[in-house]
Amino acid sequence: MFESLSQRLNQSFKALRGQARLSEDNIRDALRDVRMALLEADVALPVVKDFVAEVRQKALGEEVLRSLSPGQVFIKIVNDELTRLMGSHNDRLDLQARPPVVILMAGLQGSGKTTTSAKLALWLKEREKKRVLMVSTDVYRPAAMEQLASLGRDIAVEVFPSHPSQAPVQIARDALDAARKQVYDVLIVDTAGRLHVDEEMMAEARDLTAAVQPTELLFVVDAMTGQDAVNTAKAFDTALPLTGVILTKADGDARGGAALSIRAISGKPIKFLGVGEKVRKGLEAFHPERMASRILG
Ligand code: GDP
Repeated sequence: MFESLSQRLNQSFKALRGQARLSEDNIRDALRDVRMALLEADVALPVVKDFVAEVRQKALGEEVLRSLSPGQVFIKIVNDELTRLMGSHNDRLDLQARPPVVILMAGLQGSGKTTTSAKLALWLKEREKKRVLMVSTDVYRPAAMEQLASLGRDIAVEVFPSHPSQAPVQIARDALDAARKQVYDVLIVDTAGRLHVDEEMMAEARDLTAAVQPTELLFVVDAMTGQDAVNTAKAFDTALPLTGVILTKADGDARGGAALSIRAISGKPIKFLGVGEKVRKGLEAFHPERMASRILG
């Protein structure tokens, strides 16, 4: 992720080498390069504009510290702004609610919801020592139900049985009942997605939300879809009370535009990255400050 952005940004800093101080004149080229680098990384235009304006303002207002060269100051400003853009700190899952904590997974078909449900279940089981129950409410795709059951077997996490003949809301209610009775810590509800945003899918996700009152309503989205990912995040956020985003397929996304824009456009934090097809080792907590350092190398 971010390979070309990283290269382009580092290139832009070269213009500032050997300068005695940062001035309107000598940051112009560097700012233009930063702008181009972000646009090429598929960062949403309004985000790019705000970013460049902010860096410019800070660069001109900055007292150059004796210990840092103007070039280093500029890099630090870009680093801080990249971190801020992605949300400043790692937003952890809220696991403080009275158990069972319900996590609802929403997103388009193919975004990686089912795989990510299993990754999250394994994460919670191994890292947080939680007893996790999963359930699929995707009555439209029996294969999706079977996929979750199979992943559950692989990672030894219980999957509440559900059947395509049942109503999604009823499945979710029954699973929550079972999770309460059997004292599970967390219930992960994998929902049905569609190929495109449509009102029926949103209505169903809203009904599920009302029925099980999730503590976390996570929007799962494919990083490789770039600005589409950002627009879809906005559409879901308008329709549903999202608490965060999981950006999948980050391992195949060389540009990183969605990672950089989603927070600014939807207002919701990225909590995790999907970094591989495998359930084991396929999920990483999202740390904006580490991401920024990775970009600036
Ligand atoms: P769903 O329709 O949203 O439930 O999506 P699936 O969980 O079935 O995933 C769709 C495809 O994306 C599958 O082939 C997954 O293996 C793949 N996938 C999911 N997450 C990742 C990821 O983080 N990286 C990669 N490379 N592939 C992923």
